[in-house]
Amino acid sequence: MSLNYNLDEIMIHGAKRLVSDAGEVNPGVYLSTTFEQKSFYDFGNYGYARANNPTREALENQMAALEGGVKSFAFASGMAAISAAFSLFHQGDVILIIGSVYGGTYHLLKERFENFGIKVVNAPYVSEDLHELKESYTKDVKAIYFETPENPTLRVHDIRSIASFAKEQDVITIVDNTFQSPYLQRPLTLGIDIVVESATKFLGGHSDLIGGVLTVREEKLVPELSKIQSHMGAIMQPFDAYLLMRGIKTLGVRLDRCDDNALAVAKFLEDHEDVYKVNYPGLASNENYEIHKRQSKGGGAVVSFELNENIDIVKFFESLKLITMAGSLGGVETLISHSVSTSHSNIPQDLLEAQQITNRLCRISVGIEPKAHIIEDLRQALNLSKKQ
Ligand code: PLP
Repeated sequence: MSLNYNLDEIMIHGAKRLVSDAGEVNPGVYLSTTFEQKSFYDFGNYGYARANNPTREALENQMAALEGGVKSFAFASGMAAISAAFSLFHQGDVILIIGSVYGGTYHLLKERFENFGIKVVNAPYVSEDLHELKESYTKDVKAIYFETPENPTLRVHDIRSIASFAKEQDVITIVDNTFQSPYLQRPLTLGIDIVVESATKFLGGHSDLIGGVLTVREEKLVPELSKIQSHMGAIMQPFDAYLLMRGIKTLGVRLDRCDDNALAVAKFLEDHEDVYKVNYPGLASNENYEIHKRQSKGGGAVVSFELNENIDIVKFFESLKLITMAGSLGGVETLISHSVSTSHSNIPQDLLEAQQITNRLCRISVGIEPKAHIIEDLRQALNLSKKQ
């Protein structure tokens, strides 16, 4: 794909922070919960660690550089980062969601934020000319929230045109960039106001930490979000920040490999007689290929596909040997999940239908194993699970 950001140095060297005289190459893990004042009136750079901590700060600085923003905030999970973004809004405000979003985000809005008087409107399907978005827009809309590619349908939205529509209406735009990470896609540089990442996924990369990062494009949202981070207190812990910085060092090499593997997997599935439909924006045959190419450096590691009726879906999942059945993504290992019973469980049926999320939809997060082995595993499981 065409865009070429040189982020390698930020990923590898961006977290270096020589806060002590020891000359450490990696940032230290500062566990202290409080920091001594310089004097009665001089509190120094750090006070109480919920508000700020050197290890978390090193990560936040690195993430702001990676995303192309002015300031990042690190949280205990992706959901905590998303909650912080929604906490900017008030009773009576409308948050407009485009397309399908992670089920947890949908439930957070419907079951928590609606209790506080925030209204949620969903435009389940938005086409390239944005007419469904424009039809759903009212003057009470204060935020537009979306994922691109969407979880789990991998449909793509044009970041630049949504950002420019929102700007005309003076509406804040928020993108969940988890499926791409800033290595592949940088929504803030395309005009989006806030980007959120579940760092649990590609940024961490090893399925061993839960975390989230929110980054803003402009200073104006920084004071309020600093207060929200400290008031709500769902901060990223120092050791998790360290693990995350370690993961980020290899984000580029991991994603290059995952991207290559995912394209091979998508092509294999596209040609397979028992697969009805493959969703992967890196496939030249994908309806969103051109839009995605304009805003991202790669198709990413996530592929979803619908199996034909002649495949016993339970048998297919249970016949996989190398690919692990688990409801997450973004690690070095290939994982598979059944969206309707994991990431999108308990979403109302009519919404699932409007978003084209069917019971036969499977989602793979392609890892860094040899691609031939991943494909062979899929092939043997499909063969074993044909209905008689
Ligand atoms: N956003 C997306 C796209 C996700 O897939 C997930 C989790 O699966 C989240 C947000 C929530 O992140 P976390 O599990 O780190 O809270």
